Amino acid sequence: MSSTSLTDRVEALLADAATADGGAPVLPIVAAGDPVLRRPADPFDGQLSDALLARLIEAMRVTMHAAPGVGLAAPQIGLPLRLAVIEDAANVPEEVRAARGRVPQPFRVVINPSYEDASGRHVAFYEGCLSVPGYQAVVARHERVRLRALDERGRAVDEEVAGWPARIVQHETDHLDGTLYLDRAEPRSLSSTQSPAAVERWAQLTPQLAAQELGFSLPESD
Ligand code: ZN
Repeated sequence: MSSTSLTDRVEALLADAATADGGAPVLPIVAAGDPVLRRPADPFDGQLSDALLARLIEAMRVTMHAAPGVGLAAPQIGLPLRLAVIEDAANVPEEVRAARGRVPQPFRVVINPSYEDASGRHVAFYEGCLSVPGYQAVVARHERVRLRALDERGRAVDEEVAGWPARIVQHETDHLDGTLYLDRAEPRSLSSTQSPAAVERWAQLTPQLAAQELGFSLPESD
């Protein structure tokens, strides 16, 4: 995509969703079935001015909060750009925090991110996606990853991320490669989240009971 057309598209996206008071708009989220979620996104190489990038990031932050979600990748708002925002207040009971590594992740921006395994270990939990509403499925993911990216000011990031924040990093980076969590999920774990009762059914600390009852395997702990 040329820099002009990306600028035009971002301007149009922000204008179409503009709020009366001029605050950052909540953007429509693209659902599975849209090809933009299936294409590798373009690296960010300065196609947007600093001011427009900042407005886009703020709109993505507001949209993620409104959803609500803990991560949002640019393809999910229809932009094929390697940019994602992440934030997780992790307002969960202590036992959930301990079992899932669900520690708070302050707001952060990742640009051109990539990750690699840093633990040799997989952990499997239910996760969902704002672009696949109404469902959740179990995904085995690296327990810890080495994240390389740029932040919103263009500074290089090279750090290890563990626990639930590592899961979010993998999920969002996968979006930028055209991969949905369903591609990595245990198909037999797929569960509705369309009612509180459906959510409650597999709300245990780990998906062990779901694996037994639905008939799928969990990774060996190694
Ligand atoms: Zn997602």
